[in-house]
Amino acid sequence: MSPIKTQQPRVAFSTIGCRLNQAETALLKDGFRRRGFIPVEYGQDTDVLVLNSCTVTEGAEADCRRLVRQTLRQSPQAFVAVTGCYAQTGLDVLRQIDGIDLIVGNQFKMQLPDLLPPVPQPMKQAMPHVHHERMDPDNFVHPGVGAYTTTRANLKVQDGCQFMCAFCLIPFARGRERSRVVEDAIREAEALVQRGHRELVLTGVNIGQYQDQGIDLLGLLTQLELIEGLERIRISSIEPTTIPDGLLEYMKTSRKLCRFLHVPLQSGDDTILQAMNRRYSIQEYQEAMESACSMIPDLCFGTDVMVGFPGERHREFENTLAFVQALPFAYLHVFSYSPRPGTASTKMAHQVSSADIKERSHILRELSQQKRKTFQQRFLGQELSVLFEEEVNGVWTGLTDHYLRVDVRSPLPLKNTVQTVMATGMMSDRLIGLLNTQSQSVLSRPPQVLTLVQGGTA
Ligand code: SF4
Repeated sequence: MSPIKTQQPRVAFSTIGCRLNQAETALLKDGFRRRGFIPVEYGQDTDVLVLNSCTVTEGAEADCRRLVRQTLRQSPQAFVAVTGCYAQTGLDVLRQIDGIDLIVGNQFKMQLPDLLPPVPQPMKQAMPHVHHERMDPDNFVHPGVGAYTTTRANLKVQDGCQFMCAFCLIPFARGRERSRVVEDAIREAEALVQRGHRELVLTGVNIGQYQDQGIDLLGLLTQLELIEGLERIRISSIEPTTIPDGLLEYMKTSRKLCRFLHVPLQSGDDTILQAMNRRYSIQEYQEAMESACSMIPDLCFGTDVMVGFPGERHREFENTLAFVQALPFAYLHVFSYSPRPGTASTKMAHQVSSADIKERSHILRELSQQKRKTFQQRFLGQELSVLFEEEVNGVWTGLTDHYLRVDVRSPLPLKNTVQTVMATGMMSDRLIGLLNTQSQSVLSRPPQVLTLVQGGTA
């Protein structure tokens, strides 16, 4: 009698939205692997699709619906599990979409691998199973180690927010703020470094609110800095009013904390900031930014700006434009306001036309490009430390600690190595440079191996 052939089920992941969702997908991928699944790239034939959804804009929700349909065209038998912020806030809509078998709200997201029917046959369901509840406000642990296909790895350290900005659904989608238990964050960080990741990017919704057992963000950074083999720690984004005392001083002297701050501004007009329920005035923001930039030479200071918030007339937009023009931002991320049901801003008067939103976004994006160039220019002729990521047609590309993209030509393998590069020129959004000769002799030895985890999109 011939032996029964057993086949491991395949799982594909698709992640919409923020870096925090990416960090969670990486942990989910690890969880599925430990339960016997084989991760495959999104778009390949699969037995299970995990869609980690987003609700930050209407577009993100539409993406979610499109991805479900797209997957079912490719793999009609695929078991489709939707989790993430849209699963939390859009439950009623998701229940109506054909082909979804499981809906898992954010409270249960990390348990998703255990919520599937047992392997090897997760079968399609007539009606979706739903696991949905309010989020637990306690600090948390996430077993496992995020599986990344990239050289840099995210480290989730915080979740939730209760600032209640008038445009934002996150307090509803992710619940109250809570932090990862410090020992668990350090455990995953050490494991990621052992896999060969040299840079960790701290992620969360409101990282500046990190607090566990009396340890704040600065305390966590101090502990992470002690991890041998970890070369860079980057804070993904931090709210202006939550930058802990001493963080800038620490950044100035730390050997590992990147000279990089992404501090959402949203508007450069006080009436709009107030209507948004942001917790600072433009003067306070300006003072914080100027003190950071004067304390840390070459700091990369970037921001988010939202256009088209209700009440943003021509005058308010001009105020934002003038404010952003005057300050030394390295780049801007420009977002278009879209009304999210259930948020305070949907009831506000003076909604802005989509034509105005489009035009204002265009103006700010152009300004962002100019700012990026101005920031890059300062580094011409300087030696920069670059963590290389990948090679395309003989050109290797990587990032400096101040988040400048740098390209060099090299026949030698540079992946996941940190090299000194002389910046010799600029090309659109990046610097080009030459490897210094000492780097080249070091490279004749084999680079440190990075155990990348293949399959799926993290
Ligand atoms: S600070 Fe405001 S914009 Fe940011 S997650 Fe919290 S509520 Fe949303």
